Amino acid sequence: MPQLLSSFRQNMPNEQNKRNSYLSCAKFHAIRCDMPRNEAKRGYGMALGELIWTGRAWPAAEIVGRTGDDFSFKTSGKGRPLELVGPAAWWRNFSEIDLDDPDAVIGFVRRHGDPFGTLSPTTQADSSQWLAVAVVLKLAASGWTRNRVGPSVATRPHGVMQALVASPIFRDGVDYVPHVDGGSDQLSLRIVAKSLAAFMVTSAILHLQSYVDMALCQHCGDWFVERRRGTQFCSASCRAASSTSSKKGRRNNGIR
Ligand SMILES: [Zn+2]
Repeated sequence: MPQLLSSFRQNMPNEQNKRNSYLSCAKFHAIRCDMPRNEAKRGYGMALGELIWTGRAWPAAEIVGRTGDDFSFKTSGKGRPLELVGPAAWWRNFSEIDLDDPDAVIGFVRRHGDPFGTLSPTTQADSSQWLAVAVVLKLAASGWTRNRVGPSVATRPHGVMQALVASPIFRDGVDYVPHVDGGSDQLSLRIVAKSLAAFMVTSAILHLQSYVDMALCQHCGDWFVERRRGTQFCSASCRAASSTSSKKGRRNNGIR
């Protein structure tokens, strides 16, 4: 874990953090390794690799009941297999879900999956632990300006990163798997999320670290990383779907 934290710090574009990471490398060097001091100062040469989650969305999921504040849900079918590589900005959608709204809860399961991976055609799941995830993600979302039209700009208030990295959903929710890239022969540590909840919290951490700006897709309503100012859609398919529906709307109104 110290290697990981120092790796996080090394990537922060802040001089103080750079100094801290050198110091912690040097400390680490003195205790554990026989790497020459100048090499230890450069770090271990092991980058954090891709964040990965493999799971399923459940388009056929349905709410079956409510106990107190929590909804139970079931599903049929095989679900839609997903392999997500790299952080996804729709963790912010989860931070905004109204947990009292059954349509919002089941809508998330249908579109992205069950955060804790319990749901299957033979096992029901519930939303009893969703609030704990939403609280962490709301804290993460405080690192961006709140506008829903146009760019939501990264601000990264002090302390948010530390709180997120301390969260058990992140700490206990990911495995670090050594990976050698076939092309470059470089070693990295892939971050393999054990649940969708851990994938979302780790996505938030990586987005916070990289200071990316975000925007809300004007077609599907998912948050996405705004790579070019003024981008309105999260994907080419949302752009195409939006242009098809606006053409249809114009035709229905007698406009060509
Ligand atoms: Zn979209």
